[in-house]
Amino acid sequence: MITKAIEKAFKKKEDKNWPCTYWAVDLHETVIEPNWSVEELPTTFYPLAKEVLQLLSKREDIILIMYTCSHPHEIEKYLVLFKGIDIHFNYVNENPMVINEKYGNYDKKPYFNVLIEDKAGFDPLEDWEKVLEMLKK
Ligand SMILES: [Mg+2]
Repeated sequence: MITKAIEKAFKKKEDKNWPCTYWAVDLHETVIEPNWSVEELPTTFYPLAKEVLQLLSKREDIILIMYTCSHPHEIEKYLVLFKGIDIHFNYVNENPMVINEKYGNYDKKPYFNVLIEDKAGFDPLEDWEKVLEMLKK
């Protein structure tokens, strides 16, 4: 459950005195409704996805990582689209802030504390609201 993962990340941050937590966010079927078109970029957001991402972008203690299989030219378009509505991803498919350390090797799997991804069980129609409630606490 996404709220449990977020709670765990926030608790670890506090316990270990981390300056930030890292959130990997998938796009299609998570933030944006897919349109299955190769020409046209889908831009329909799920309810509250935009609001949550705007809140996350404002927080200095949250690093946002776009975690997507979009093509490079699509990623460029997404970054522009998001920037225009005050959503700022720090990185795309990588986390150069955490490199290999004692407890993990992040050569191929980027380090993150929270994963927002439909294939990991995130329900874009129900879970954005839960995340929003948590962030407002
Ligand atoms: Mg997806």
